Formats: sequence, structure tokens, C-alpha cells
Amino acid sequence: MEFMPNFKLYRPDNVDDAIKIKTEHAEARYVAGGTDMIVNVRRGIEQPQSLVDLTSISNMNDITEVDDGLQIGANVTLRNVRENQIIQQNYPCIAEAAGSVAGPTHQQYGTVGGNLCLDTRCLFYNQSEWWRQSNDYCLKERGDTCHVAPSGKRCFAAFSGDLAPSMLVYEAEINVVGPSGSRRIPLLELYRDDGMAHLTLGPGELVERVHLPMALAGDPSRYEKARIRGSIDFPLAGVAIRLRKGKGNAVEDVAIALTAVNPYPKIISGLQGLIDGNLGEDELDFIRDAVRKQSKPMRTTTVAPWYRRRVVGALARRLAAELSA
Ligand SMILES: Cc1cc2nc3c(=O)[nH]c(=O)nc-3n(C[C@H](O)[C@H](O)[C@H](O)COP(=O)(O)OP(=O)(O)OC[C@H]3O[C@@H](n4cnc5c(N)ncnc54)[C@H](O)[C@@H]3O)c2cc1C
Ligand code: SF4
Repeated sequence: MEFMPNFKLYRPDNVDDAIKIKTEHAEARYVAGGTDMIVNVRRGIEQPQSLVDLTSISNMNDITEVDDGLQIGANVTLRNVRENQIIQQNYPCIAEAAGSVAGPTHQQYGTVGGNLCLDTRCLFYNQSEWWRQSNDYCLKERGDTCHVAPSGKRCFAAFSGDLAPSMLVYEAEINVVGPSGSRRIPLLELYRDDGMAHLTLGPGELVERVHLPMALAGDPSRYEKARIRGSIDFPLAGVAIRLRKGKGNAVEDVAIALTAVNPYPKIISGLQGLIDGNLGEDELDFIRDAVRKQSKPMRTTTVAPWYRRRVVGALARRLAAELSA
């Protein structure tokens, strides 16, 4: 870690001012809990001359029940998500995912917005300045070669936030606010398949809140991840699954989403054939194989891609079996 560099800290108390400051200082970066941003600043990965702290914006701090579901402000902490009884009852894998982020101290400060907008991660990127310098940096940061796939010009750094997959299986939407107004979009549209620029936010835009639909409230769900240190670590692979059953134990609806095995949180496609049937051994094997095929882990962690692909399939199969039991 380097010493903390000098930067100017702005602390607006409303969204309009935050956007105005960010627009006037093109190089500025938003910060919320700072649990990822400040680490990156001290590693020299981020070198902002100014930071715009969002945590004094009070209308981004609440969890509110509304007619069509639940709204979660982007500044709500992971601890509050983990402990919220409505989320625990109606959207259980979201509370579970929040409680699996890092450790309790990170959950105390880390926010929903910061987790959804978390930078992508790679073994060759999340390192100190001298380490990256001695490797001639890499495509994502000041270099011209990707050390994971040196013959290409793509970055495969993995999106490794825990909340996104758990919200995607509940078809979450987000409010994005920026210089040209506000728009409500599916959470999935926040992301794109590019480790260098994985968010679709335009200049000055920020995530204001998340909407969870009433229609899916109460559907059973689970989230689980594999990580190196069980007490505090990013996922090597994470799986969220929502499974609703109907008459005769048949599957009425199912959704699965992954984290840490692609540059964006991935929704598993091709599960329609499971609707109206029971989940026996063949169907569980089908889920495992579909998840393995659609996850594309690369050599971005100390753990081999083949292991992460195997583990993500095994996790999905196990969670599906648990929810179907
Ligand atoms: C040791 C360690 C372990 C960790 N383990 C995990 C883990 O297991 N799982 C996990 O998911 N994360 C992990 N993290 C990362 C981090 O703690 C969490 O992701 C946390 O939720 C980030 O939230 P924050 O509010 O602190 O974000 P910040 O660090 O403040 O910001 C993160 C990014 O989001 C942007 N941002 C913040 N709020 C908004 C907004 N409203 N709109 C637009 N952009 C915004 C910032 O500009 C920045 O780019 C870990 C971090 C450390 C240091
Ligand atoms: S995948 Fe390649 S370009 Fe992206 S961070 Fe890793 S080494 Fe850098």
C-alpha cells in the first residue's frame, strides 16, 4: 500500500449537487463506504484529484415498502440489508449475499451502490503499485498487454460483487440519475461484457436506488459462494438461485445468476425446460452443466479456472436440490 495521496473531498447532501460536482470535475470519482475505492486509491490504481462522497445524501439511505415492491437506497449498508426482516423474509438470498460480503466491518460501511458498481478484479490488477509496475502494468491500467490472454486486446477481469446475482434472480431494477435526468432500467442493463469498462453508466451518472418487485416477493431463494478465506474474501465463484414450486412439487419459476466467473454478473439462460416438471437427478445435472457451460472464469485469481467452473456448477446443483427438497 502507498501513503494516502492528496485529493479534494466533496460531500454534497443532495443528488443534483453530487452530479453537478462530478460533471464539473471530469476526473472525480464517486465514493460511498470507500471499502473498495480507498484500497484502490492507496494502491495507485485509482488516482482521483477529487472524490464525491455520496453518503450524506439522505434520500439514498432508506429501505422503503412501496405499492409495487421494495426500494433500497444505494447508500443502505450491507449490514442493514443483511439484518432487514422484510428482505430476509421476501428476498432471502439478498440478505444472505449481503452477509457474505467480506467480513462484518466491511458490511458496516460497504453500501448497496458500491457493491453493485464494484470495479472488476484480477490477480494482475488488484496489486500494489510496485507489483504492477514490475509487470509493466496491464491493459486495464496503464499497460498495453493483458497478462491473462496476452494475444488479445480484451480484459477478462471478473465482476465479483455478491449482491448483483442475488438481486438479478428477483428481476431487480435500478434508478440511474445523471446530468440528463433519471431513468429506471433492469439491473442487468447496468453491466456489459468488458472487464475494462463493465458499467453502462454515462458521465456523471450514479445509481440512486434499487427496486425489487412485489410479484416475486416470498419466492424461496439461496446464495452461496466459494472463497479462499471463509471469514473475509471475495467470491471465486458465487451462485444465487430463486425457485418457486407449485402443484405436485413442480417447478413454477426458476432463475439462477452467477458472480465472479465472467466480467459481468451472469443470468443463466435455457432453464425454461424445467418449468412444470420435478427436479430429479437428471434435472439437477442439467442445471449443473448449464451453469458450467455459461461461466467463463479466466486466470484472474490464484485459483485455477477449471476449479472455479466445477465449483460454480456444483454450488448451483446443491442449492437447487436444497430448494427443491
Ligand atoms: C478485504 C476485502 C474483502 C472484500 N470482500 C468482498 C466480498 O466478499 N464481496 C464483495 O462483493 N465485495 C467485497 N469487497 C469489496 C467491498 O468491500 C464491497 O463490495 C462493498 O460493498 C463496496 O461498497 P462501498 O460502499 O464501500 O463502495 P466504494 O468503495 O465506496 O465504491 C466502490 C465503487 O462503486 C462506485 N460507487 C459507489 N456508490 C455508487 C453509486 N451510488 N452510484 C455509482 N457508483 C457508485 C465508486 O465510484 C467505486 O467505483 C471486499 C473489500 C476488501 C477490502
Ligand atoms: S484480465 Fe488482463 S487486462 Fe484485465 S486486469 Fe487482468 S491482466 Fe489486466
